[in-house]
Amino acid sequence: MGRRKAKKKPPPKRKNIEKLDVNFNCPFCNHERSCEVKLDRQRNTGTISCGVCMEDYQTTINYLSEAIDVYSDWIDACEQANQ
Ligand SMILES: [Zn+2]
Repeated sequence: MGRRKAKKKPPPKRKNIEKLDVNFNCPFCNHERSCEVKLDRQRNTGTISCGVCMEDYQTTINYLSEAIDVYSDWIDACEQANQ
């Protein structure tokens, strides 16, 4: 028996969130599915906001962007802010 703990794997950027889901867990208040993404294709702007703690975030999107991309941008921005 070897020791296989699979500790070296970096955490996947995208968890198994359904692609069409627009409700995500909030990184600020930790409420589940409290964050809703809105994609404004005309202005190329994606907005995500939490209905519980009212945190929000805006990012630039393109025609390929999905709600999950806005969310992961937000998470990235949060992580950078925390460093
Ligand atoms: Zn929140």
